[in-house]
Amino acid sequence: MKIPSPPINPENKAFFDAARERRLMLGRCKSCRELHYYPRAVCPFCSGPTELVAAKGRGKIYSYSVMRRVPEPYAIGYVTLDEGVTVLTNLVDCDPDTIRIDAPVRLVFKAAEGGEMIPMFTPA
Ligand SMILES: [Zn+2]
Repeated sequence: MKIPSPPINPENKAFFDAARERRLMLGRCKSCRELHYYPRAVCPFCSGPTELVAAKGRGKIYSYSVMRRVPEPYAIGYVTLDEGVTVLTNLVDCDPDTIRIDAPVRLVFKAAEGGEMIPMFTPA
């Protein structure tokens, strides 16, 4: 599967720099302390300043969908991380027909066409 390169900008550069080192970063508000994903410069809950914190890379499938009307079927889904944040992601390295809601998953990284590392999840 070809993965298009994400547009890198000043707001997400630190996120993709960490991904290159195989770390998935979440946003955390310095004011209200809420975590969020994708990380933003401004807290989506209270508009406070934010920082990046590393996720452990474990979670469970909240929901998913399999794209079948393409040459190579693939799955996308929402994964709720152990930290409580829900992430829209690809579910990879598995038969899409074996994916189940609530199944445990772990973090993996896949290279995009430009070499950026993209966080995805696979059954644990
Ligand atoms: Zn906040």
